[in-house]
Amino acid sequence: MSESEKNTFLGYGGGERTRRFKFGELTIEGFSRAPIKSFWRIPELKLGFDLGWQPWEHMGTPRWFITHTHMDHILALPAYAARRQMMDMSTPTVFLPAQRVGEAQALLTAFTRLDNGRLPCRFVGVMPGDEIELSRELVVTVLKTYHSVPSVGYIVWERRKKLKEEYLSLSGPQIRDLKESGVEITYEIRFPRVAYLGDTTARALDETPDVYRADVLITEMTFVSPDVTAEMLKTAGHTHLDDFVRRQDRFENKLIIAGHFSARYTNQEINARVRAAFPDMLGGRLNLWL
Ligand SMILES: [Zn+2]
Ligand SMILES: [Zn+2]
Repeated sequence: MSESEKNTFLGYGGGERTRRFKFGELTIEGFSRAPIKSFWRIPELKLGFDLGWQPWEHMGTPRWFITHTHMDHILALPAYAARRQMMDMSTPTVFLPAQRVGEAQALLTAFTRLDNGRLPCRFVGVMPGDEIELSRELVVTVLKTYHSVPSVGYIVWERRKKLKEEYLSLSGPQIRDLKESGVEITYEIRFPRVAYLGDTTARALDETPDVYRADVLITEMTFVSPDVTAEMLKTAGHTHLDDFVRRQDRFENKLIIAGHFSARYTNQEINARVRAAFPDMLGGRLNLWL
């Protein structure tokens, strides 16, 4: 590596500040760059994804969904728990792959000694296929992802009750009477609002097509250069720009946020390669968080 290449590598030019995107009533805040840090939150849904970093203003979000325990996705866990404790906020709930709950708890125990302060945190171990009820309107499902350590992705669904077809012609009082008699007059419909993949190969996309239907898709796109082989992607557990090109007709999402680009690339290179592959940026829906 020449001296000038080293400088390019060190100064990838990303600017590590939090970025913010407004989508309808949702605000998506965060930043993601491999292997520096990944963290996202959506304050209106009172939830966040990954804890690679924790800006002070993010501590008010009471629950966090961790995709896997690589350092750039979990490093800020002790700070998050400590700040909520210090500010007299409720105990946070942290969801993470079930295989790693013990180690995450041990991390907090170590910091409790190092920092000489309590770090209350409620861990919930999750597995692909799990469903987590957040409220009457919101459910999170856990999807399988493919990475080099135990990992998952998440989809946040909004759910609504609809009157069953056979009762549509009834009057208000008739519907009320039926309901009071204990008859189930409604059924549930769900809309995928936000899908978050974390680190994974493109296999996760193929196996969970709901990801393509979410209003907002937050995805990794770690590699963009032609020197990365399929074998490397599989071993590292990451996606490549080409994976998205091959699947471009499948994305129904209204907003796609691609991040987690490798720090080996400059922002200019990422921009140039992605824009060459997607000249209209998927109809303006594709956004790069650089
Ligand atoms: Zn990562
Ligand atoms: Zn990772």
